[in-house]
Formats: sequence, C-alpha cells, structure tokens
Amino acid sequence: MSDHQFDLIIVGGGPAGLCAAMYAGRAMLSAVLLERGIPGGELLNTEKVEDYPGFVSILGPDLAAKMAEHAQAFGADIRQENVEGIHRLLDGTFRVATSSGTEYIAPTVILTAGGTPTKLGVPGELEYAGRGVSYCAVCDGAFFKGDTIAVVGGGDAAVEEAEYLTRYASKVFIIHRRDEFRASRLLQERVFANPKIEVIWNSRVLELIGDATGLKHLELENTITGGRSRLDATGCFVFIGFKPNTGLIKDEHVRHDAAGYIVTDDRMMTSIPGLFAAGDLRAQLTRQVTTAVGDATTAAIAVEKYLTERRTKAVAGAA
Ligand code: NAP
Repeated sequence: MSDHQFDLIIVGGGPAGLCAAMYAGRAMLSAVLLERGIPGGELLNTEKVEDYPGFVSILGPDLAAKMAEHAQAFGADIRQENVEGIHRLLDGTFRVATSSGTEYIAPTVILTAGGTPTKLGVPGELEYAGRGVSYCAVCDGAFFKGDTIAVVGGGDAAVEEAEYLTRYASKVFIIHRRDEFRASRLLQERVFANPKIEVIWNSRVLELIGDATGLKHLELENTITGGRSRLDATGCFVFIGFKPNTGLIKDEHVRHDAAGYIVTDDRMMTSIPGLFAAGDLRAQLTRQVTTAVGDATTAAIAVEKYLTERRTKAVAGAA
C-alpha cells in the first residue's frame, strides 16, 4: 500500500477517533487518523471529567493525552491534517482531501469530526469574540480574574463551565431562556450551592455591547414579560449546544436527522456503505465521552467485518 492508501481513514481525533484508532491498531488494520489540531477533541475544552469509568476525576487534557498514548501504543498513525472533503469514488472507496494537498484513499472511513459550538447569533457576538465572548472556559477563564461574567445556556456544559469559571471570576450570572435547567441534577446542585453564581431565569441575550477595550454589557430580554435589562459583564461564555460537523461529506447525501446529526445503523454505518460515524456528530440520545468511545469500538469492529466481506465479494466476483 502507498503512504496514502489505507484500509481505514479516521477523520477527527477526539475520544471517538482515538478509540477507533486503538481498535484498528489492535486489529492490525492499516489505518490513519487525521486531526487538524492536537488530539483530544472536546476533552481539551473540558476541565474535569468525572464520569469516565476508571477515573473518579481526571483533567480533560490528561485523559486526551492518555487516549492518544494508548492508541499509539497499538501503532496508531496520527497525522496533523485539516480534512476538507470526503468523496466517494466509483469503485466504492473514499478519497479524503486535506488542505495540505495530500489525498488519502481507503475503502472505509470513520467520521468522528464532532461539532462546533452554536452561536447566539446576536449583534456584537462576532465583534467581541476573543474580546469578551468565548466558547471555551478552560481556554479563556483565566482572562477574567476578579471580573463579573455571564454564561449563557442551561445544559450540562453551561452549568459545569459556570462552576469552573468561579475560580477566576468574582461573580458568574447564568442566563437561561427557561425556568429550569436541562443539566443533570448533580451539576445543578453544585451551581445552586455556589455563592458566586446567580441564575437569571427566563431571559435571552439580545445584544452584546462594548467598546474598543472589549465587552462591557449584555442587553437582556425577559422571555415572559418582554421587559429589557442591562447586565454589566466583561465576559460572555456561550454554551448553547453545538452543530455536528457533517459538511465534510461531499457529492453525496448522507442520511441525517432534523438537527443535522448523522443517522447510523447499529454497526455505526451511515447510509453510505463503508462510511461510518461515531461520537458527537451521530444522532443519539446523549453525547458523552463514554458513548463516543462506545460508538467508536462498534465502528472499528464493524469496519473489520465490512472489509472482510468486501474482500470475499471481490474474490467471488473475480472467480
Ligand atoms: P445541550 O444539552 O443541548 O444544552 C443546550 C442548552 O442551551 C439548553 O439549556 C438550551 O435551552 C440552551 N439553548 C439552546 N439554544 C439556545 C439559544 N439560541 N439561546 C439560548 N439558549 C439556548 O448542550 P450542552 O450543554 O452543550 O451539552 C451537549 C451534550 O454534551 C449533552 O448531551 C451533555 O449531556 C453533554 N455534556 C456532558 C457534560 C458532563 O456530563 N459533564 C458536560 C458537557 C456536555 P433549553 O434547555 O431551553 O433547550
């Protein structure tokens, strides 16, 4: 096989991608994992992980490093490449094009490209991105020492990151559009017990306002009364979900749900034969590190079976 021809191409190096690479290595498949940044995916944006079996509590980046080491111990070939498109060729194989100009070819692809944070879509959000507006508490929290900041959202990410941000900020307001959180009970209880956190219920952000030095205020609207108010804050951390990165599949329609998440069968195969999906971009009930590695385990083993069936068919066809 050439340097760019493999049995399997794994697109994305989060927990799902790293787990798939570990299983592919153990199965002696020739596989390559393409990741545009440092391997770890969302783990790199997560402070503590407390729900991964075997680790009562571990820092996200530490777990990411352990997963990468584990995959490499079984021979994973991890390359820093920005994937631009996945194209299905006439013979049923895939061509994966990257921005370096290198093209990778394989009969199977496991897509584990995760998602990107959902934006509020309000005036000022883009203008103050990096100058007060952030989507990553671990990356940017330390810039807000002693400040008053806002967190937008009501899911696990919002409440967990709000708590994390209290180690830097003197006050954290959580702005949520309803009167109850979607987040798990345990995370909610921690937030309610934290004296630095105050929740502003039934409210949405209308505008982010600042000056040349950065963000200064949030213009809020009460979703019940319609009343407006202004909150002084130098930081606004947005955690309102994310959009699956499914735009890499070119030329062909892949089945997805109403929210854009890729639909797979119980072997993690998508509607395109040979194309598998695992982790946060797959349509499923929840998106956890544990479910991502579970998906990836199934996908890697299914790839092995798919390749065997493909070879058997090719031999039968040639006979
Ligand atoms: P999520 O669970 O989808 O929650 C998104 C939150 O943002 C919801 O509260 C939603 O409000 C709110 N929201 C959505 N669009 C909005 C908008 N335009 N304006 C204002 N608010 C908006 O997303 P997530 O918190 O990012 O979590 C994603 C997945 O990762 C979940 O499965 C979660 O369990 C998992 N996760 C787990 C952990 C952990 O276990 N430690 C940590 C982080 C993430 P409504 O409630 O009104 O819809």
